[in-house]
Amino acid sequence: MTKSVTIVGGGLAGLTLGIGLRQRGVPVTLWEAGRYPHHRVCGEFISGRGLASLERMGLGVGLTAAGAVVARTAAFFSTTSSARPRALPFPALCLSRHVLDELLAQEFCKLGGELRSGERWLGKEFPEGVVRAMGRRAQGDGDGARWFGLKAHVRNVALTADLEMHVAPNGYVGLCRINGDAVNVCGLFRRDGGAKSPDGAGWERLRGQPGSPLHQRLGAVEFDEKSLCAVAGLSLRSHRAGEREEFCVGDAITMIPPVTGNGMSMAFESAELAVEPLTRWSRDEVAWSEAKQMLARRCDTTFARRLAWARCLQILVLSATWQGPLVFLAGRSEWLWRWWFGRTR
Ligand SMILES: Cc1cc2nc3c(=O)[nH]c(=O)nc-3n(C[C@H](O)[C@H](O)[C@H](O)COP(=O)(O)OP(=O)(O)OC[C@H]3O[C@@H](n4cnc5c(N)ncnc54)[C@H](O)[C@@H]3O)c2cc1C
Repeated sequence: MTKSVTIVGGGLAGLTLGIGLRQRGVPVTLWEAGRYPHHRVCGEFISGRGLASLERMGLGVGLTAAGAVVARTAAFFSTTSSARPRALPFPALCLSRHVLDELLAQEFCKLGGELRSGERWLGKEFPEGVVRAMGRRAQGDGDGARWFGLKAHVRNVALTADLEMHVAPNGYVGLCRINGDAVNVCGLFRRDGGAKSPDGAGWERLRGQPGSPLHQRLGAVEFDEKSLCAVAGLSLRSHRAGEREEFCVGDAITMIPPVTGNGMSMAFESAELAVEPLTRWSRDEVAWSEAKQMLARRCDTTFARRLAWARCLQILVLSATWQGPLVFLAGRSEWLWRWWFGRTR
C-alpha cells in the first residue's frame, strides 16, 4: 500500500512536486490558499537548471505551448549608465505566473492529484507525510533591512535586450518580454527608514528616477491594473535545508536573491529532488526522518554554492561603490559575465 502525501502550498515548488509524485503513482492532496489563475510578484524569468528539471518531468512542452518567450540576451543599467546587451550563456524562458501556476495546477489535476484550492492550511505543525511548500517565510533581514517587491505588466515598451536589469541605490527592477506581447516589470526594493508597506505611490517606484534609462522606458506607460501585486517582509538571508524542521521545498527552504533570476529554478529543482525520497517513504521503504534528511542533503549539496555567490552579487549590486563598475564590467567583460552567471545557478 502507498501512503498519501499532503503538500501545503500550490506555488511552483508544491505543484511540481505534486506532479512528480503523481507520475510515480503516489496519492497526493495539495492545499493552496489562493485560487488559480493569480498574479504573483515575480520577474517571470526562468533561468537555470530548473528548466532541465521541467524537461525531465515532461513539462517543458506545455510552457512553450503556453507562449513562453525564449530570452537570449540581457543588458544592465544604472540610473546614469548602460551596458551593451550580452548573450545569455544559456537561454531562459519568460512566462507570466498567471499562466504558469495555472498550467501546472491543471497538469496536477489531470494526473489525478486532489487540489484543494482556496483552502488555507491552518495547522502550525507539519507532521509525518506533510510537506511545507508555502513559499518564503515573512520576516525582516537580520541586518534590519526591510525588503518589498512590486510587479506590473505593461505593453508597448521597446527593450534593448530580452532581459533588462536596472539597478538603483535602493533596489533593482527587471524588465522582460513575456507571453502575449506584454512586458513584465518587477522590482525588489529596500524600504526607507520609517516608511510603511507599499502604497499607491509605491507603484511609481517601478518607473525609476526621472532621467534614468528605466524612466525613459516606463515614464509614460500604463500599468495593467489587474497584474499589479506587491509583497513585503522578504528575507534574503540564506538558510540550509538541514536547518529546517519540516520537509520543505522551494522558498520554504530559503529564498535566493531575486537578482539572479534563479528562485523559480530552485523551486523546480528542489521539487524534483524531493520526488524520490517521498516516493520511498510512501512505499514504506524509508522512515519520514530519513526521507527528510535525504532531501536536505541533496538540496544543500546542490544549492549551497550558488546561494553564497548570489548573496555576494546582491550586496555588490546594491552597493553605491560597486554598482557603477559592475554595470560597466557587465557590458565589457565576457569572462566576468559568464563567471557570475555560472556561479549563481
Ligand atoms: C521581487 C521578486 C522577483 C523575483 N523574480 C524572479 C525571477 O525573475 N526569476 C525567478 O526564477 N525567481 C524570481 N523570484 C523568486 C520566485 O518568485 C520564487 O522563488 C518562487 O515563486 C518560489 O516558489 P515556491 O513554490 O517556493 O513559493 P510560491 O510561489 O510563493 O508559492 C507558495 C504558495 O503557498 C501558498 N500558501 C502559503 N501559505 C499557505 C497555507 N497556509 N495554506 C495553503 N497554501 C499556502 C501561497 O498561496 C502560494 O501559492 C522573485 C521573487 C521576488 C520577491
